[in-house]
Amino acid sequence: MTKVWSETLYDAFGQHFNADKVLFESKTAHQHLLIFQNAKFGRVMALDGVVQTTERDEFIYHEMLTHVPIFAHGGVKRVLIVGGGDGGMLREVCRHRSVKSITQVEIDQAVVDMAIQYMPGHSQGAYDDPRLNLVIADGLVFVRDTKEKFDVIISDSTDPIGPGETLFTEGFYANCKRCLNKGGVLVTQNGVAFMQLEEVKTTAKRLAPLYKDWGFYGAAVPTYIGGIMTFAWATDTKALRATSLPVLKRRFKRSKINTRYYNPEIHQAAFALPQYLQESLQSASKAR
Ligand code: SAM
Repeated sequence: MTKVWSETLYDAFGQHFNADKVLFESKTAHQHLLIFQNAKFGRVMALDGVVQTTERDEFIYHEMLTHVPIFAHGGVKRVLIVGGGDGGMLREVCRHRSVKSITQVEIDQAVVDMAIQYMPGHSQGAYDDPRLNLVIADGLVFVRDTKEKFDVIISDSTDPIGPGETLFTEGFYANCKRCLNKGGVLVTQNGVAFMQLEEVKTTAKRLAPLYKDWGFYGAAVPTYIGGIMTFAWATDTKALRATSLPVLKRRFKRSKINTRYYNPEIHQAAFALPQYLQESLQSASKAR
């Protein structure tokens, strides 16, 4: 029988899905994991009552957090993914043949296992890629302790409640900086700016003193409700953000990667932010 599942992310506002069939539900060692079937969005994964990813719209989020930093950089060999247990980010990173090594640090083995079983279209076999080193650990602890360096770090975390909280701290951002090669860039999921403005401002306040170029870019992902999903961008190499359209087009073409959302024009346009957000970010970064 179809049940209605309601997301619990916000008070007084939310989204509902018909859960036509519950495929998996359990309390893992770290969080409550639910995977169900919905007629409009396909299979949906929720952690602790919050939608993480759906089969129908996942490509927008995963393409934008992967291809924007990798094509902006142009010479990425080593990538670190923090979180991302559903495997969608790993799939997109694996599509870059120029990437030689991928480390993924995910806190919850159960998310990886259940996503492979019930949402195989996300990873599409990427967990078998020989370039991958999968580490089951807290991302904060990993970046604090590792001696490895990366060209791109992608934080594909839950929201800053529960296990994901550590991935929004000053300590995490500072240790990511230490783990970046010269010319490297950190990108992170940072929630829906209109709904979670305080989270975006807090990140701005924490990134501003650490990175020479910090900011946000965005994309509308239907099941992250309430407006534009914001992705934080942090690097000491200002030129990356200004990578020209002809250069992005050349890199994209040479990669032979077929995308459904990303293209070089979207890449550049995604950095244009609405006025309310620009002003909030400016004042947040000065308020220390
Ligand atoms: N796209 C999603 C979003 O925007 O909400 C995120 C999806 S992905 C499933 C989030 C992953 O982050 C989960 O698998 C979760 O287990 C992992 N995670 C949460 N906290 C973590 C931490 N401290 N270290 C590593 N992984 C973490």
